Amino acid sequence: MKIKTIQTIDELRRELNEYKRKNQTIGFVPTMGYLHQGHLNLVTESKKENDITVVSIFVNPTQFGPHEDFDSYPREPQRDSKMLEDLGVEIIFYPSKTEIYPEGYSTYVEVEKLEDALCGKSRKGHFRGVATVVLKLFNIVAPDRAYFGQKDAQQVIIIKKMVADLNHEVIIRTVPIARDEDGLALSSRNVYLSTTERTAASSMPRALQAAKKKIEAGLRNTDIITGMIRDEISKNPMVKIDYVDALTLNRLEKVKEIDLNNTVVAAAVWVGKTRLIDNFILGEI
Ligand code: AMP
Repeated sequence: MKIKTIQTIDELRRELNEYKRKNQTIGFVPTMGYLHQGHLNLVTESKKENDITVVSIFVNPTQFGPHEDFDSYPREPQRDSKMLEDLGVEIIFYPSKTEIYPEGYSTYVEVEKLEDALCGKSRKGHFRGVATVVLKLFNIVAPDRAYFGQKDAQQVIIIKKMVADLNHEVIIRTVPIARDEDGLALSSRNVYLSTTERTAASSMPRALQAAKKKIEAGLRNTDIITGMIRDEISKNPMVKIDYVDALTLNRLEKVKEIDLNNTVVAAAVWVGKTRLIDNFILGEI
């Protein structure tokens, strides 16, 4: 079946109502496009569990800070569309900026506390933009299930909290991190990296992996573990650490000892002008 690309909310609702009338379930995968295997894994999960899958492609301006890469964020909608069609996705929602944020737009969602940790510290307002656009997309698509990647662990934790607090009915599914052969988590932003930056960047997943092994061997002290990760990453002078933290999965709070069922160990680094994130979790999100 040929994939349908829909640009307006009205048309998308009309189209989806046809499926809902027939009691068909809808899986939803929100993305910013420039798709890679990580995104496609979310789509594959959705295809398994739902009658139809909707993928949104929207580079959301409200989640970018004033000096961030909104303008330069890679965009290749034709290529994305072909990849999604090959996977058998039924609908792409590809709205314009004004379709989502018309003139005079003024309503935002804040998920208190959780949005202040990790990436929220260095990207003020980022999760306000994420929560707002995701809730809007949930209200537009009204999916049965929505799929998010563990790569953005804080994002999943915040979305789950928002859905619970605001009594939304959508079920949130988390999909494991897809990585390249050198261990680097796939990201649309990896395209910014030069060959030497790319080699340098792989020190982050290596450091996290080594820390995970230490935990498996019995180490529990979070300061020692995050210190080891920092030391390992810092060996490479091209990589600048934004944060390395070990927090509880449910509240994103600091603890002295790792809880094997409730921990996220997360890092963010700058390699040149590119900011990259990665994590591992102990427990479930
Ligand atoms: P983005 O287009 O970067 O906003 O990502 C859209 C969705 O894909 C989010 O739920 C991300 O967490 C997920 N995602 C991005 N990269 C990966 C990856 N390497 N592995 C798993 N999920 C990912």
